[in-house]
Amino acid sequence: MWRATILTLFPEMFPGPLGLSLAGDALARGVWALETQQIREQGVGRHRAVDDTPAGGGPGMVMRADVLAAAIDAAAPEGDSRPRLLMSPRGTPLTQKRVRALAEGPGAIILCARFEGVDERIISARSLEEVSIGDYILSGGEIAALALMDACVRLLPGVMGEELSGEEESFEGGLLEYPQYTRPRDFEGRAIPEVLLSGDHGKIAKWRHEQALELTRARRPDLLAREDD
Ligand code: SAH
Repeated sequence: MWRATILTLFPEMFPGPLGLSLAGDALARGVWALETQQIREQGVGRHRAVDDTPAGGGPGMVMRADVLAAAIDAAAPEGDSRPRLLMSPRGTPLTQKRVRALAEGPGAIILCARFEGVDERIISARSLEEVSIGDYILSGGEIAALALMDACVRLLPGVMGEELSGEEESFEGGLLEYPQYTRPRDFEGRAIPEVLLSGDHGKIAKWRHEQALELTRARRPDLLAREDD
């Protein structure tokens, strides 16, 4: 079973939206499992402090390495083979390729930071892989972790209705997806492209591929440049 363990100061945020729809049904059926670990349980002192002021000064607070280490060790004892991810805007941008690899593995241990982030030393001390979900700053790692898990869980066997739909989507072939249409045939004077109503599957496949290429060239030429990966 694919198993995610989330280290967070806000366990109430989980499963959140992943308790609904496809991911939620799969969670209820035991296709995947989700555990949370309250980082504050490992906090220090009477107030269970998890953060402190940055060495060298500056704004905000930094999460303590010793507290995070204790939380990681409690959630994932030695021998747990799951990758340890730290959600971080400095991380490697998440791609569909990485999502697929994670979905094929045993699950993930995901550390969600808050405040200004974590003491740098925890990253090497617990072999954390920094993962970013985009070039913008969230107020915490929880929404990033939900996004990552959503992308993984929908690829698990038996989660998506039609297995094929996972393979036809944007990024899977290194291209953005072709445009989709459904009824009605005429919407406010806009028709469905004739070729899609032709019943000629060869022609349809060719048209879709051309559209995907054109869209990708116009919007995301960087994807074409890395089509080899
Ligand atoms: N001071 C940090 C940002 C801290 S934001 C910096 O400039 O890099 C607080 C936390 O939210 C981060 O530590 C991270 O866990 C999470 N977070 C924010 N933006 C994110 C993003 N784009 N991807 C993944 N996690 C993010």
